[in-house]
Amino acid sequence: MYDLILRTKRLNKIKVALAILVCVLIVLIVFTSIRLVQMYKVSKNVHAYDLWINEINAEISAREEAEKARFLPLNEQELENFSNIYKHQDNKRVFLTFDDGPSTSVTPYILDLLSQQNVKATFFVLGSKVEANPDLVKREYDEGHYIANHGYSHKYSEMYSSTQNVLDEYNKTNDLIKNAIGNQNYNSLVFRFPGGSSGGPYNDLKQEAKEVLKQNGIASVDWNALTNDAAGANTKEKIMENFYNTVQNKTSIVILMHDAPDKILTYECLPEIIQYFKDNGYEFKTMYDVIGRN
Ligand SMILES: [Zn+2]
Repeated sequence: MYDLILRTKRLNKIKVALAILVCVLIVLIVFTSIRLVQMYKVSKNVHAYDLWINEINAEISAREEAEKARFLPLNEQELENFSNIYKHQDNKRVFLTFDDGPSTSVTPYILDLLSQQNVKATFFVLGSKVEANPDLVKREYDEGHYIANHGYSHKYSEMYSSTQNVLDEYNKTNDLIKNAIGNQNYNSLVFRFPGGSSGGPYNDLKQEAKEVLKQNGIASVDWNALTNDAAGANTKEKIMENFYNTVQNKTSIVILMHDAPDKILTYECLPEIIQYFKDNGYEFKTMYDVIGRN
């Protein structure tokens, strides 16, 4: 009888131990399952995050490539577009161009006016002025105007002493523009020879330099209308007279003006000039439109 009681007690103890063991196992299984599900979710999120980061990186490099492509040297077709700039017959168009700036005494007023009139222009900036007024170049660029290149010194005897000097002045000015606008990819691509690309005592050198620029994918642009604001026209009446005399019967007009420090009269004439083109159905274009990349 005593033996039977002892055996039953031992059996109960084993049952309790087994029950505890089963409970522990169940807890372990549940806990491990929860951890596994959690780990799966985390790894899924990490994978999604990696995909997202890869997408962002791909987008950034595509944008960088596109930005670089905007300023690659001009190809043959694009150079040809510049050779034919006055021959365009499809629609009336005008390129307002301002040389020798930027200057603090004139350029900001011109920019304000262009902004009010919703008109874009091309600024043939001078390297020495870019160095002095980088903020104005940045403003021109940020407001959608074209920053073209007019060399650094504007001293004919220096600049036209060799074709290499022309190229050096282009590059020096180009580097100053890059720094001013904060875009190291920028290339102005369009050059205007101080005094024009032909004629005068340096004509032969200029023709050679024009070819060297072309080989480097850089176009040169003169003008086919002008206000003579840099050469003799010292009243609004004279400026407007030169303007009306030179714009007649032209479909594609590149008009030469200046935003050098003493050219406030140019600014004062600008509302009438812009109005004339608006009244006569001209579209305002910049060198971006001639290149035609964007
Ligand atoms: Zn000039």
